[in-house]
Amino acid sequence: MTDPTPAELAAAAEEYLAAHYPKAGNRGPTRFDWGVGSDEVRVFQEPDPADEAEAMPAVRAWRQGLWDAGFGWLTGPTAYGGAGLSGEHQREFEKVTRRYQVPGDSMLTISLGMIAPTLLNWGTEEQKTEWLPKLYSAEQVACQLFSEPGAGSDLASIATKAVRDGDNWRITGAKVWTSGAHLADVGELICRTAAEPRHGNLTAFLLDMHAPGVLVRPLRQMTGGAAFNEVFFDDVVVPDSRRIGGEGEGWKVALTTLAHERNAMGHSAFGGVGILSTQRLVGVIRAAGKQDDPVVRAEFGELISRLRAARYTNEVIAAQTRAGTAPGPEVALNKVALADNMRRVGEFVADVLGEAAVADTGEWGTFAWTSLMLGAPGYRLGGGTDEVLRNSVAQRVLGLPRPT
Ligand SMILES: Cc1cc2nc3c(=O)[nH]c(=O)nc-3n(C[C@H](O)[C@H](O)[C@H](O)COP(=O)(O)OP(=O)(O)OC[C@H]3O[C@@H](n4cnc5c(N)ncnc54)[C@H](O)[C@@H]3O)c2cc1C
Repeated sequence: MTDPTPAELAAAAEEYLAAHYPKAGNRGPTRFDWGVGSDEVRVFQEPDPADEAEAMPAVRAWRQGLWDAGFGWLTGPTAYGGAGLSGEHQREFEKVTRRYQVPGDSMLTISLGMIAPTLLNWGTEEQKTEWLPKLYSAEQVACQLFSEPGAGSDLASIATKAVRDGDNWRITGAKVWTSGAHLADVGELICRTAAEPRHGNLTAFLLDMHAPGVLVRPLRQMTGGAAFNEVFFDDVVVPDSRRIGGEGEGWKVALTTLAHERNAMGHSAFGGVGILSTQRLVGVIRAAGKQDDPVVRAEFGELISRLRAARYTNEVIAAQTRAGTAPGPEVALNKVALADNMRRVGEFVADVLGEAAVADTGEWGTFAWTSLMLGAPGYRLGGGTDEVLRNSVAQRVLGLPRPT
């Protein structure tokens, strides 16, 4: 059978979505109108745990439906259940999707944007055949178990230990800041499996989050959400068949995941209809009556040029990815730009709105910004801190020497 053209795929997707989901509003989310609809400004999805638990079955059903209909992994290799189609097919599909009210993949970013690509890269044939369909159909949801209380940027110094026990490994230790661990069925876990040398002593596993000895405890953030967790391992048994990559190759496996994470996070650096939307910022300026304020106009101009610059960088990286180049150290640029743009947008809005930004008066589009102001600093840390990513760009993109 020959592959569908992008237009044929779009028509098939339209038929599927129309049969299962209501149409989005007239203009869909391609425009932002000040004062219309929800004024929510969310940096991270941090729903109440009860709402989250309620939302998850719909997200799983959405993915399972896409998988069964052949839309679940359009660009994936057919050997593992993908459709083997092009990035253009994917973009056409996403265009159609935006016209419908669907649960979407935002709760699956780590699972689909980071862990699945890592398995595609490092998994054995058996692992890829078993796990990729499970992840893309959301039968299983994955989290990322890297950071520890004493090992964030310095990931190579992690202390969680895995000790060989015949065909199994026994895991003891603790992780922290694990986004979505409370929703996950499996986790990509990096452990220390030998004393020395550094970087060569780590091994990666796909851990069953429901295994005996795994304890997940939520951490409350200043935004009010509890999207992170502490995860403890008390002599947890993992079969060797769940090892990702070779023994001692955990560092390289982790770098693959981190490159995908920075790519996925930086991807929205250019804005769009979300929190970095130009229309939304114009709405704020007009609502505050500051459209003729020369200082506000100058700051707005600078902000827009930064958003544009990030957008063009994003397009260059996207073109490389489409051409088949795996994300490299340059994706750090986009992640740094996104974190910086979020911070700047928060500060700009705080200046324009003044007290209205911090007082919950019920006025549309004002207090809603506190989520960005409190949540944006997290973007400077998650997926690698600004300082560490700048070092990476300096050394691995610009070729500058390491500090002595
Ligand atoms: C929103 C969010 C989601 C997250 N989700 C996850 C997750 O799902 N799974 C997971 O495993 N982790 C997650 N994390 C943790 C995240 O990966 C770590 O916060 C990050 O790696 C930084 O580590 P740290 O917090 O221990 O800070 P540290 O590494 O202790 O850094 C502290 C400060 O020192 C600076 N610094 C450290 N080393 C250097 C250096 N060599 N040169 C210059 N400056 C340096 C850092 O830039 C930083 O400013 C998440 C974090 C956030 C904020």
